[in-house]
Amino acid sequence: MSKIVKCLVPVSGGKDSQVCLELAIEKFGSDSVIGLFCDTQFEHPLTYEHIEKMKGMYGVEIITRSDGDVLSECRKRKRFPSDNVRFCTNHLKIRVTKNFCAWLAKNQGDGFEVWYGMRRKESHGRAKRYEHTIDDELYPPHIILANYPKYLEKMGVMFRLPICDWHERDVYEKLGDKVNPLYSKGFDRVGCFPCLAGGDGFKDIAFNLDDFGREQRERVRVVEKELGKSVFTSKRGYQKDNENQLSLCFVCQI
Ligand code: SF4
Repeated sequence: MSKIVKCLVPVSGGKDSQVCLELAIEKFGSDSVIGLFCDTQFEHPLTYEHIEKMKGMYGVEIITRSDGDVLSECRKRKRFPSDNVRFCTNHLKIRVTKNFCAWLAKNQGDGFEVWYGMRRKESHGRAKRYEHTIDDELYPPHIILANYPKYLEKMGVMFRLPICDWHERDVYEKLGDKVNPLYSKGFDRVGCFPCLAGGDGFKDIAFNLDDFGREQRERVRVVEKELGKSVFTSKRGYQKDNENQLSLCFVCQI
């Protein structure tokens, strides 16, 4: 890479990472910013299209990296991910981002900031974990997320959570109609389609949203048969009342 990157923004195709990308470009300029899209090969076509669209919208480079796909990870682990066991996030997102950050810092001989679109108001867990995090402070990566290695800090890579205090409405106000069209289809999360670690109701909505959702259901059904396990966690398949919660891993859902 010939240019010097001052800020890297992990983008998922979701609104929170998009607003971070926009803010980073406002601060550093599009020539000093890159987006990093960690492709889990399990995303909705509209998300892939949106990533491409963002490149033109912001005149920014967005690099795609992939180290496998969600269903292969499930086969390898002989299980589906859950709220507590997110091997796919670790392998397909965190590991890929970590390797890319180390490569970039080494390649350009200098560190950079990484802006993550995490918002505290997304969940109690985040509110508690990041209650003392300040939006304009820089933090060593392993302080923000324990899975990141300490050597990244030594390479000059520092994390910032610029929208940690934002409400969802602030994000929509800033982005207007520039957001991923999945939101206007009533799907309020993007990332894997669906996140297999999400609530059963959430998965059911995604599997029934459109033709692609139904294709995903078939792909998952094949793996269910191989593993002898259901992707749904509740005994009745799924329960609308209490299983509609969303997956709130901020690495995936930004
Ligand atoms: S969005 Fe869900 S299925 Fe996809 S990598 Fe993250 S935890 Fe795994």
